[in-house]
Amino acid sequence: MTPPLGASVTEPERAVPVIGEYDVVVVGGGPAGLMSAVAAAKQGRSTLLIERYGFLGGAGTMGGLSTFCGLHARVHGEDVRVVRGFADELLDRIDLLGGLNAPHLTIEDRIAAQAFDIPAYKMAADDLVLAAGGEILFHATAVGVVMTADDTIDAVVVESKSGRQAIRGRVFIDGSGDADLAVWSGAPYEVSERLLYPSLMFRINAVDPDRAGAAWRTIGRLMDEAEAAGTHRFPRKKPIVRPQRNPIEWRSNLTQLSNEDGSPIDGTDVAQLTRGEIQGRAQARDTFAFIRDNAPGFEDAYIVDLAPQIGIRETRRIVGPYQVTEHDIRACVDFPDTIGVNGWPVEAHVAGDVDFRFPYAEDTRGFNQLPFRMVLPQRVRNLMVVGRCASMTQWGQSSARVTGPCFVMGQAAGTAADLALSAGVAVQDVDVTALQARLSADGAYLGTDLPPDPAVPAEPLAQEAATR
Ligand SMILES: Cc1cc2nc3c(=O)[nH]c(=O)nc-3n(C[C@H](O)[C@H](O)[C@H](O)COP(=O)(O)OP(=O)(O)OC[C@H]3O[C@@H](n4cnc5c(N)ncnc54)[C@H](O)[C@@H]3O)c2cc1C
Repeated sequence: MTPPLGASVTEPERAVPVIGEYDVVVVGGGPAGLMSAVAAAKQGRSTLLIERYGFLGGAGTMGGLSTFCGLHARVHGEDVRVVRGFADELLDRIDLLGGLNAPHLTIEDRIAAQAFDIPAYKMAADDLVLAAGGEILFHATAVGVVMTADDTIDAVVVESKSGRQAIRGRVFIDGSGDADLAVWSGAPYEVSERLLYPSLMFRINAVDPDRAGAAWRTIGRLMDEAEAAGTHRFPRKKPIVRPQRNPIEWRSNLTQLSNEDGSPIDGTDVAQLTRGEIQGRAQARDTFAFIRDNAPGFEDAYIVDLAPQIGIRETRRIVGPYQVTEHDIRACVDFPDTIGVNGWPVEAHVAGDVDFRFPYAEDTRGFNQLPFRMVLPQRVRNLMVVGRCASMTQWGQSSARVTGPCFVMGQAAGTAADLALSAGVAVQDVDVTALQARLSADGAYLGTDLPPDPAVPAEPLAQEAATR
């Protein structure tokens, strides 16, 4: 029976036990939150990382990605690793576990990415946080904040099998991907009119590598031909299907999840998430069957893994003092408050397709700097917001949401938390020169040694303006 419109129940008021007090509390163990916790702990700060699942890695593990994008840039024709610092330690640990591929070229061979094995990422991430001196609380979902003043968070409230509990902190870092803490604490945010479409990732096993060859170049064509012949209809063009370290195993990024009216599934709506999971599995089943029946080398293959949940690319983004734009990405711009760099192109998951947009110039520096301001919310003085919900426009986020820039934001926010606490100032008043010096000393690459690309259009793209 459908309840009457606006029906509600009233919960009784209750005291919530405080189970911990930390210098730095990070919510969300994706690449941005994970690197924030590592950085804060390495600066000697008592740090807790709260994650709703039982493992770290965020979309990289729970979303089944198995590829690091945005670690590299094409710098004047050469593919160079440009995201450094604590990310190096994570990659070394994954490599030691035998779970890291050599970088490969992708998107028409225009940019490098690097595949990993998901179990190795999970193990390496645990070890990295714990070795840094951080603590982890798994299976706990943050559900709210308690404020001491309009601009200051006192505690985050979590729910788990242990019930409802609170954790106090001095600085909070929101790595939830959905800007949960920012929204609860009243920091301004925005939601695109039309979100990027989510996908359910899956992996295929028992491929014959010799017969499959470079099938990542041909599967998309086979799908286009089948659509043109009217025998099949696929959820999206430009499938990304690539071998893992062991070439009998391939990852597949080719689904696109939508509501009945064609709009994208919203990752903050539980009914839409439910629809997306069911639809994602049906799309995986159908597209896999096509590949098995049509691509040489896949005849005996099967789906060995469906990601634990659908992969959400975009929900809420904070509106901080500066929003990184598509123009910033494609013009390879510099910022005085650089915290690191990003060389990934704009990757817009629009209806039925993926639109990749690279730097304007042919021979280009290939990366933009990322400003510290992108992790600073307005209004709340002890909160930073990292990762895909940081301060970016939709098309800026379509680039800088990938793993490399998330590592950059995380290391900067964790380090800035220490500086804010040492100086007794709001995170917005951290000494940026001191932050940059600390980041450089910790191995981060700030992209200050190469000049930006010359001669770029001054105005933001009309396309981008249309989304604002
Ligand atoms: C289908 C898909 C394919 C992609 N492919 C690639 C790729 O190949 N390579 C690449 O580099 N990037 C890829 N991306 C983009 C990239 O992985 C993500 O944008 C990136 O993981 C964002 O990192 P994040 O830390 O901001 O958030 P997320 O990775 O989303 O992590 C957020 C974390 O917070 C946790 N969390 C959320 N809310 C709460 C809460 N309230 N309490 C406690 N925990 C919470 C979540 O469980 C999760 O672990 C892809 C994204 C998708 C969706």
